[in-house]
Amino acid sequence: MFSAQIVLGVKHWTPELFSFSLSRPDGFKFQSGQFVMLNLPERDGYQPKPRAYSIISPNYADELEFLSIVAPDGQLTTHLKDIVPGDHVLVGSKPTGTLVHSALLPGRNLYLIGTGTGIAPWMSIARDIHTYGDEDLGIDRKFDTVTLCHGVRHARELVFRDYLEQGIFAEELLGDVVRGRLRYYPSVTREAFVRNGRVTDLITSGQLFRDLGLDQTQFDPATDRVMICGNIPVNHAMKDICVAHGLHEGSTHRPGTFVMERAFVDHATP
Ligand SMILES: Cc1cc2nc3c(=O)[nH]c(=O)nc-3n(C[C@H](O)[C@H](O)[C@H](O)COP(=O)(O)OP(=O)(O)OC[C@H]3O[C@@H](n4cnc5c(N)ncnc54)[C@H](O)[C@@H]3O)c2cc1C
Repeated sequence: MFSAQIVLGVKHWTPELFSFSLSRPDGFKFQSGQFVMLNLPERDGYQPKPRAYSIISPNYADELEFLSIVAPDGQLTTHLKDIVPGDHVLVGSKPTGTLVHSALLPGRNLYLIGTGTGIAPWMSIARDIHTYGDEDLGIDRKFDTVTLCHGVRHARELVFRDYLEQGIFAEELLGDVVRGRLRYYPSVTREAFVRNGRVTDLITSGQLFRDLGLDQTQFDPATDRVMICGNIPVNHAMKDICVAHGLHEGSTHRPGTFVMERAFVDHATP
């Protein structure tokens, strides 16, 4: 079942990437990190094709925000890219997905690994106070630190960079919770940037841990938890790394020390 929601805002980051916010359907509940099906209303010349989208808002938000690729010849996104405030987008009624807190065993350090639009679920998790916990608010401490790794080809694809470097720390309430605990770790593969290289290589070489000032060369199953969302080659490579470092895959039925979104996208690696 789908409900028609109003487009409240649209931001075009590059010709191939845009984000947009929709009204939140009445009674719509979701866990931070979940995805939902989106579609456009039927109209002349357009056959609706529902597609999965990670919700980038945290679960307490009044609006639902999404980040989208414009896929070449994509059946949905070549139309979706033209939405403007006041238009309608259809939102599925059943959010789901494994990239949620409850699929992970308790730990100290959470690593969110995303490539391309795979940053989408991390924008939700990184903005959810329950990811960190807060004694003053009576929310149990979940993770001491959260490291959000975003790998892209070109620096212009580092959507939300300003927000993750600055804006989030100025947010009322959330800013105090994330200060000193959220670390943003962007990397670029196809042009000069402050950090170059595939996120998988930065992890296997130990560079990630050195850059974070940590006295370790790989993930520690006793303390570290990993969530993975990228294209299929990145997901497989990250899974192999996690298993080699002694982590085991979790699900919402059986929490583990890492989780991944199996179905995300099959496009080429950055
Ligand atoms: C669980 C899940 C969550 C998803 N969350 C998001 C999200 O938050 N944002 C998002 O943009 N997409 C997301 N996707 C992909 C999304 O469902 C669509 O595939 C995408 O919107 C393109 O739809 P389309 O009909 O225009 O093109 P499609 O016909 O679906 O795809 C056309 C081509 O584009 C490639 N492609 C599709 N999506 C992407 C992408 N995100 N990045 C790079 N290449 C891609 C495909 O591999 C294919 O080759 C998600 C997919 C799954 C399964």
